[in-house]
Amino acid sequence: MNRFFSFPFAALTLALAAMPAHAVEAPKPKAPEMPPFEVAQPYPNLWYGRFGSATNCSWIDTGDGVLVIDTGATATDAKNLKAEIARTTKDKPIKWIAMTHLHGDSNNGFSTFLPTDATIFVNARATGALATSFAQGKTKAPTVIGVSDRIALVAGNRILEIGVPAGNAHTAFDLYVFDVSTRTVFVGDLVTPDRCPMLSDPDCDLKGWIAILDRLDTLGAQGLVPTRWNPAPAAAPEIEKTRRYLTSMLAFLIEKKKQNAPEARVSGELAAEKLADYCPRELGALNALSVYRRLMSDGTTRPGSAAAKPAPK
Ligand SMILES: [Zn+2]
Repeated sequence: MNRFFSFPFAALTLALAAMPAHAVEAPKPKAPEMPPFEVAQPYPNLWYGRFGSATNCSWIDTGDGVLVIDTGATATDAKNLKAEIARTTKDKPIKWIAMTHLHGDSNNGFSTFLPTDATIFVNARATGALATSFAQGKTKAPTVIGVSDRIALVAGNRILEIGVPAGNAHTAFDLYVFDVSTRTVFVGDLVTPDRCPMLSDPDCDLKGWIAILDRLDTLGAQGLVPTRWNPAPAAAPEIEKTRRYLTSMLAFLIEKKKQNAPEARVSGELAAEKLADYCPRELGALNALSVYRRLMSDGTTRPGSAAAKPAPK
């Protein structure tokens, strides 16, 4: 049974985005108002919702408390999220918060959850930045657990795996959550169903990203909930689509690096590659160049500045 469904708003957004510029000249059809959030419940005690323009947040009622995955892009979205958690779980306390990464569109809403008695799970490499930010804040700092590799979390009546890449992937701070009983994986921006993955974070590393996709495959997940765009009922094909794009992009860029190709040639020749079909031309070029500038001959990338302000999603 397909318990996952697409938010109707997103289909609309996609349809609008797909329209060529000349097709939206006057008279412009009035865009229907998008509700500030939409929530779905694919399984008992498990919800996900789109909050704001494009961010999915999820929560699981584990019996005696709630695990939240990602906290939204803004304070308004986070307030809506908290209210929906309270409504759907009949005011169960939030005991755990996991952040799939620290891009603003995923977790700028976090401070709205403070102060909190919840335990926070992040990629271990993010704990220093978080501790600094808590030290500067006015509220009591929560307990933070930094995950390296993977942990098993028994939360109420649920068993979850929380894992991170060995190094950089989409960002320096990626993390996934796997709910064993429903076989649902929450992947942040490591997989973006039907959409072009964003490679423009200054710490993005394609080799590391491909490696964590291989790990996600081994989980045997069924449903997949990304932070952006629609959840997918079948995880494996979506993971494969992202892997194919990253693998082809990496091979293409290594080849150009060997040729010492100038950037203009890289973006020009990218358009002729099959992988260009998966991403709009401008986004594909942005992805390619931002990796190419940091690419070494062995396919790894020089890290940018993980401490710099968050990059575009
Ligand atoms: Zn992101």
